[in-house]
Amino acid sequence: MSAAVVDAPVCSTATAVPSGLIFNVQRFSVHDGPGVRTTIFMKGCPLACSWCHNPESQELAPTFVRLQHRCMRCGRCSDDELALPTVVNKTECDVDLCPTGALQLVGERIDAARLVERALRDRTFFDESGGGVTISGGEPLVQAPFVTDVLRRLRGAGIHTALDTCGFAPWENLRDAAAVADLVLYDLKLMDPVRHEAATGASNERILFNLTALCAWHANVHIRVPVIPGVNADDANIDATARFLRSLNRALPVNLLPYHPSAEPKFARLGKHYTLHGTVSPSTAQLEAIVARFAAHDLVATIGGLSS
Ligand code: SF4
Ligand code: SF4
Repeated sequence: MSAAVVDAPVCSTATAVPSGLIFNVQRFSVHDGPGVRTTIFMKGCPLACSWCHNPESQELAPTFVRLQHRCMRCGRCSDDELALPTVVNKTECDVDLCPTGALQLVGERIDAARLVERALRDRTFFDESGGGVTISGGEPLVQAPFVTDVLRRLRGAGIHTALDTCGFAPWENLRDAAAVADLVLYDLKLMDPVRHEAATGASNERILFNLTALCAWHANVHIRVPVIPGVNADDANIDATARFLRSLNRALPVNLLPYHPSAEPKFARLGKHYTLHGTVSPSTAQLEAIVARFAAHDLVATIGGLSS
């Protein structure tokens, strides 16, 4: 793919869409952009990263989960159902009737106006801290028209907007959403396409193409590199990442997001195999060595998400 033929947007082409599917709205986030923020987590993702912290976000549909430690075997779920690794054939009514809150629904359909209204409740904190709203996921661009509409409404209300994306989306969807985002947080996971596919389920070709096109016009792009020992933390991948970023002729800031094994129980709840069992978080020394490797390419990498 060549990015040379890709145009920057001249204006937002977003049209209002009836509703979107979110799975969380997290207030007082401090690592998803400057200041105090509200982070909206969208449901649906085209990738399936082995380290995903939110595997319950990947499916573009409401998902039912059962917290086994809360289940008192009250009899509403049959023994057969309880033996299943995932929760099937349940409804919101079943969730309401579960006496212990063990049965939970992940996913909420909401219209753009109501979502913006909810986010604006913390406007005072945004104004005082230079914060705003970040749309994350899952992958927000799976619901690109809705997300673009929400970002446009927030921006119209004078709110700082950020889009947190893995970049695996049609270029036009990224372009239109990024046009109404003051900041784009862009993930780069692995540079080798075969290794990328093995770790995430898809090649990185589209992701690299989109980042190249985005950097041709968007003024505020930050790179996020999850640091997963045994997957992408090796020198060869870090050097390849740095070389690619330098090829964009921009000194893009890099945020290193250290692996944490806390998602393993979520994979178990969803009946998904966790391939990283036994992997430990990178040490401070490992992370500092990666910072130094980026510095050798004249790139500033910091440990942790973007905050101020
Ligand atoms: S309704 Fe709730 S507590 Fe009862 S068996 Fe089902 S999950 Fe367990
Ligand atoms: S891109 Fe993000 S949300 Fe999607 S699978 Fe990977 S880590 Fe999870």
